[in-house]
Amino acid sequence: MKTYNFYAGPAILAEEVKKQAAQAALEYENTGLSLMEMSHRSAEVTAIMEEAVALTRELLNIPEGYRVLFLQGGASLQFYMTALNLLDSGKTAAYVDTGAWSKKAIKEAKRCGGVDVVASSSDKNYNYIPKNIDVPASAPYVHITTNNTIFGTQFQEIPDFDVPVVADMSSDIFSRPIDVSKYDVIYAGAQKNMGPAGATLVIVREGALGKVTRELPSMLDYRLFIEKNSLFNTGPVFSIYVSLLTLRWIKKNGGVEGMVNRNTEKANLLYEAIDNHPLFYGTAAKEDRSKMNVCFLLHEPSRSDEFLSACADAGIVGVKGHRSVGGFRASIYNAMDLAGVRQLVKVMESFQ
Ligand SMILES: *Cc1c(COP(=O)(O)O)cnc(C)c1O
Repeated sequence: MKTYNFYAGPAILAEEVKKQAAQAALEYENTGLSLMEMSHRSAEVTAIMEEAVALTRELLNIPEGYRVLFLQGGASLQFYMTALNLLDSGKTAAYVDTGAWSKKAIKEAKRCGGVDVVASSSDKNYNYIPKNIDVPASAPYVHITTNNTIFGTQFQEIPDFDVPVVADMSSDIFSRPIDVSKYDVIYAGAQKNMGPAGATLVIVREGALGKVTRELPSMLDYRLFIEKNSLFNTGPVFSIYVSLLTLRWIKKNGGVEGMVNRNTEKANLLYEAIDNHPLFYGTAAKEDRSKMNVCFLLHEPSRSDEFLSACADAGIVGVKGHRSVGGFRASIYNAMDLAGVRQLVKVMESFQ
């Protein structure tokens, strides 16, 4: 039976990406070596790194003055690293609190300087995105989480802030076009919409760096990773390679414009089912609904296990909701196809 992977992360990868990754794990391009056995300084790995950077630039239309890095430590290390590199002690950065990941970013930033939480949706268990956010002009940056993986909300449009934006795009990078020139830093762990855990994509504006007075540890200094083309030390080569395979797959499927069309069609189908079936209801405010993570509940929560087992019988895995929302969460990242969403909708209809 086919398995439909709706997990929030680590998450679904395209079928052809997994096949190519499996081949590279056995032997990479007639070298007699697995990619996992190869030097991060070899010609082959250098070519992988260069193509991964070039394709990221091409797909996201990244302007001059920005650098693309593949680091380690996940988005969770970026909570701290962004602040360490951009927020001087004595300065106060603006943070928008839209859920659990934002809160963690705020906690780490406080170790580096002042944090002004300029807006929060905690009053309604993060089921919406705050509007008309006021950011003091003195803030070195405003930090946002573009898609809230746990609560199923997403900035539909990035507001026009008067200060540079630092964005956690872990769960919606490459899902739609973005205007990179608004940002000082964009970061994303690989394991939601790109590849396996291990690599973290960072896009940083070079002009934003070198302004803090503190001494930066080597492993936490963007400038060092820029100088070393991401490979100051041994990088997460296999994870970067699988991410590269995904980037090639995105390009082949129409780029981020192709992805946004595909994602809109999937999300519309699923939200329509949630809205039309009297047993279910969505948790996120309609205008802020995520196209990546769709959170919904049963009016009769006592039937939750019954629904989950109906899903399992249809090959659907990973739809149990996060404990802070309950119910169900269907993560429909780029690699999920329309057939997978149709399968879930079918189960909802027959459950009805
Ligand atoms: C998963 C996730 C994180 C945490 O990522 P790690 O790579 O595990 O550190 C941070 N932010 C968002 C929005 C996420 O979805």
